[in-house]
Amino acid sequence: MQFRDLNTQYKVIKNSIDKAIQDVLNEGNYIMGKQVLELEKMLSEYVGVKHCITCGNGTDALTLALMAYDVKENDAVFIPDFTFFATGEVVCFQGATPIFVDIDKDTFNIDTIKLEESIIKVKEEGKLNLKAVIAVDLFGLPANYEELEEIVEKHGLILIEDAAQGFGGNIKGKKACSFGNIATTSFFPAKPLGCYGDGGAIFTNDDKIADLIRSYRIHGKGNDKYDNIRIGMNSRLDTIQAAILIEKFKKFINYELDKVNEIAKIYTNNLSGIVKTPNILDGYYSSWAQYSIILENKQQRDKLKLYLEQNDIPSMIYYPKPMSKQIAFRDIVYINDCIISKNTCDRILSIPMHPYLKIEEILFISNTINKFILTYQ
Ligand SMILES: *Cc1c(COP(=O)(O)O)cnc(C)c1O
Repeated sequence: MQFRDLNTQYKVIKNSIDKAIQDVLNEGNYIMGKQVLELEKMLSEYVGVKHCITCGNGTDALTLALMAYDVKENDAVFIPDFTFFATGEVVCFQGATPIFVDIDKDTFNIDTIKLEESIIKVKEEGKLNLKAVIAVDLFGLPANYEELEEIVEKHGLILIEDAAQGFGGNIKGKKACSFGNIATTSFFPAKPLGCYGDGGAIFTNDDKIADLIRSYRIHGKGNDKYDNIRIGMNSRLDTIQAAILIEKFKKFINYELDKVNEIAKIYTNNLSGIVKTPNILDGYYSSWAQYSIILENKQQRDKLKLYLEQNDIPSMIYYPKPMSKQIAFRDIVYINDCIISKNTCDRILSIPMHPYLKIEEILFISNTINKFILTYQ
């Protein structure tokens, strides 16, 4: 059994993928070929945002967004304490200061009350310039954008949606990658919509910001790539990856997204009352990058992980360490008390989740967890 089965997915769509790749080889436009523009158009229409700009990966997508908003030294950028490292890394890369905020224990997304408390605290201290919030759609579930948009407006910050794990989710029909001032995603193979290598994208309705990012991603180009009007980077999505994504996107919206939601329902039916199952609020729709359960404590979590392993069931700990405890951030002085985040790191376990899980596998996984919990002491 695989944690995320990309091989089966490939087998199912092999014909169309192989043809799409062969077309790129026949055409020979490996960088910025027509498939890149076609994909950007498809994705911006799906998300309902004016501009989609693809780039090298989800980390670059965040960096390009921060560059476009001129995030720099002395800027405070608020981020959840429980996320993938890149969310905080990009802030430091710009020379700005990440401020880690605790998460909500049920959604694993940034706690909006603690966020506002932290914003007020930093404002009162008056040392840093209040700049931005990066909210993360963790495990596929959109963050609470209704409240987040209110908070950033009140305090004059920019809101960035890190939807690296969130593509395909929505809140009351409004799609992930359409929230805040700007949104980013990743096409890393294991993300909800993945390619066969690295890839990423940025979404915004702001024409000026979109123009800036199109320039930054190709060496700060002006009229053409040999006219350089600013310092940028080299971060493009390969034409082959775009061609692959066009095919994978069709399967994603016609089948995979519904399927992972069906699987999540079966898991939740079989596991609720046994372990703490994910909590999807009314009106929210997840793209289920992960299905994560919460155990009683670290010891029980670690023993369950081992027990699953003995039964050939892979599981993962996302994430074993809160951001504020990462050595790379040891010099950051603005540390909030992130109790829920720390506690979640000790108790969380993600179990296999992908659209090609078979019903027998889903039942076997649920039954194995049930058996473990019933006999655990
Ligand atoms: C994966 C991920 C990223 C980075 O994406 P890459 O394509 O791997 O660079 C950023 N933020 C979050 C929350 C992620 O899960």
